[in-house]
Amino acid sequence: MDRRKFIQRGGQFVGAAVLGGAAWRVFAGKDPESEFSQPTGPYVWRINQEKCTYCGLCETACVRKPSAVKAVNDQTKCSYCVGCYGHLADFNIASELIDSQGVKVCPYNAVIRKEFTGGKDGYFTYTIDQAKCTACGKCAKRCNELGTKSMFLIIRPDLCIGCNRCSIMAVCPKDAVELAHSYPEDDYRGNFDLDQMLKNQADGKGGAA
Ligand code: SF4
Ligand code: SF4
Ligand code: SF4
Repeated sequence: MDRRKFIQRGGQFVGAAVLGGAAWRVFAGKDPESEFSQPTGPYVWRINQEKCTYCGLCETACVRKPSAVKAVNDQTKCSYCVGCYGHLADFNIASELIDSQGVKVCPYNAVIRKEFTGGKDGYFTYTIDQAKCTACGKCAKRCNELGTKSMFLIIRPDLCIGCNRCSIMAVCPKDAVELAHSYPEDDYRGNFDLDQMLKNQADGKGGAA
């Protein structure tokens, strides 16, 4: 797929799954890794992306260990760069050496770089390994300060136990954790699956995976 077509297709997803700047994305499928079937009530805790500064407290303040907060990368905003600010800490390296020798932003190597098209100087997708992510926020902070703001943190409702008073909300210095309405027929999942999005669009099912 050439660059223009790729971007055009990606652009068709913009807005399809975004709830007005909300902190999560709505998906149709069930997450097989779900430990809980949240939300059970009409509201869920969410992170307001307009307020969050990726201070790092979400990693430790959640009552769940590891945190119910995870980083995600919105593929509709990502530029698919050879070098990603959220993935690579030092850009002074050849493309073909990034994966093997590049200095990574994530302490746990949870940001996954995958060639999409065009070879070593082409286009790459970046996704977050949810099992490795601790919600330290380092990748999202760099992406928001230097990149396209496609990486951010979410409270995954399938991992959140729905505390009456969210302990992250209690300590957040930016007042970024909010209650938001949810709908019983919705299922929530915190990462964009580019391949599934493209497949759904080709099948005429819209953008959500
Ligand atoms: S505590 Fe607040 S500002 Fe810090 S990472 Fe969490 S939501 Fe963002
Ligand atoms: S939030 Fe922290 S642990 Fe999670 S992927 Fe980003 S850098 Fe890695
Ligand atoms: S409501 Fe509880 S489980 Fe959910 S994010 Fe907040 S502290 Fe963590």
